[in-house]
Amino acid sequence: MNGLVLVINAGSSSLKYDLIDVGSAESLASGLVERIGEASSLARHSVDGQDHRQEASLADHGAAFELVLAAFGEHGPDLGEIELLAVGHRVVHGGADFSEPTRIDDDVEATIERLIPLAPLHNPANLKGIRVARAHFPDVPQVAVFDTAFHQTLPPRAYTYAIKRDWREDHRVRRYGFHGTSHSYVSRRAAELLGLAVEDANVIVLHLGNGASATAVAGGRSVDTSMGLSPLEGLVMGTRPGDLDPSLPAHLSRAGISLEEYDRALNKESGVKGLAGTNDFRELQERADAGDRDACLALDVVAHRLRKYIGAYAAVLGRVDAVAFTAGIGEHSPPVRAAALQGLTELFGIELDEAANAAATSGEHRISTDSSRVAVLVVPTEEELEIAREAAAVATS
Ligand code: AMP
Repeated sequence: MNGLVLVINAGSSSLKYDLIDVGSAESLASGLVERIGEASSLARHSVDGQDHRQEASLADHGAAFELVLAAFGEHGPDLGEIELLAVGHRVVHGGADFSEPTRIDDDVEATIERLIPLAPLHNPANLKGIRVARAHFPDVPQVAVFDTAFHQTLPPRAYTYAIKRDWREDHRVRRYGFHGTSHSYVSRRAAELLGLAVEDANVIVLHLGNGASATAVAGGRSVDTSMGLSPLEGLVMGTRPGDLDPSLPAHLSRAGISLEEYDRALNKESGVKGLAGTNDFRELQERADAGDRDACLALDVVAHRLRKYIGAYAAVLGRVDAVAFTAGIGEHSPPVRAAALQGLTELFGIELDEAANAAATSGEHRISTDSSRVAVLVVPTEEELEIAREAAAVATS
C-alpha cells in the first residue's frame, strides 16, 4: 500500500509527529514539540538527517500545530504541497468501545471524550491533537489507533476483576491493557521471524520502556496482559509500581496521605525511581555494577516481577514459541534480559545464548541457544509505522 500518513501522538504538554511513507516504511520527517503552555516551548523537526530546533512561546496545541506546519513548510516536506492519505492519531484509551483502528467523525470524537474518566491524563491530550488536525486537514481521513484495542480479545476470565457488580458495570472497571500497537506488531514479527503463521504462534511479548507491560499472545490474539484499568498495573516500571496490594489506598489514607498525593506518587515517584532515585536504566545498571545496594535491589525487583509474569503467561498459553523483548530497555539492556530469564531453562525450556545477548547487535535478532525450546528474540518496536499502516488501511477500506 502506498501513501503518506502523518502520525500524531499528542501528550498533555507535547506533540510528537512522524510523516511516514507507508509504501517504503520510511519516515520522511519527524519531530517533537515540548512544554506546550509553558513560558518557553521547545520544538525539534528532523528531516534528511538534520535536526532543526527552535524555542517559541506556544499557548496551546493549536499554536504548536501551526509551528509544526511552518517547520514542514520551511524544512520540508511541505504538507501544503503533498497529498496526505491519512492522519493517524495515537489514542491511549478506547475502553470497550473500540476494538480496532477507527475513522474519526464527530461521534467517535464524542466517545473518546466520554472515555476520559478511564484515562484522565491521556485522552484529553489525544483529543487536542485530533481537534487541531481535523481543523487543519478537514478533507483528509483521520484515524484513531487505540493502545487498548489489541487487548479487546481478552477473555472475560482475564479481564474481569473480582469486585462488586456495580463497580464493574457502572464504572466500567475491568482490565483493558495498553501498548497494544506494540504488542500486536512485535508478536506478529516474532511469528514471521520464526517462520510460523501468526495463527500458529504463541508469544510472550515484554514491552520494557519507561512504561512496561507483558502480553500473552495466542495465535495473534491477546489473551492476557499485565496492565489493567490503567497503565499502572503489572510490571515494575520507571516511575510506576506495577502490582500492589489493593488495601494500600485505605492504609495510607489512615496515615493522612490524600488520594491526590497517592495518585501522583504512584504515577511519578514509584517503580525503580521510588526504589533507587532514578528511572534511567543505564544509570541504574552502572550503579548496580559499582555495588550500589538500592540499584541492585531495584533491578532485582524488576527481574523477579518479570520472571513471575513469564511463568504465569507460560501457564496461560500452555505452549510458548517465543519470548520477545522490545522498547528502550527490552531492546538495549542485556543485563535486564538475562536477569528476567534466569532460572527458566529447566521448567520452561528457555535457554539464553549469553554471547548473543551481550553482543551489541541492533535490529531484530535471536538471543536464545539453538537448543532452546523457546526462541528468545529482540524485536525493535515500530509503533509509529504500525499506526501509519493501520491508518492507511482504514483510509483506503
Ligand atoms: P522507551 O520508553 O521505550 O523510550 O524506553 C525508555 C527507557 O529505556 C529508559 O528507562 C531508558 O533508561 C532505557 N534505555 C534506553 N537505552 C538503554 C540502554 N542502552 N541500556 C539500558 N536502558 C536503556
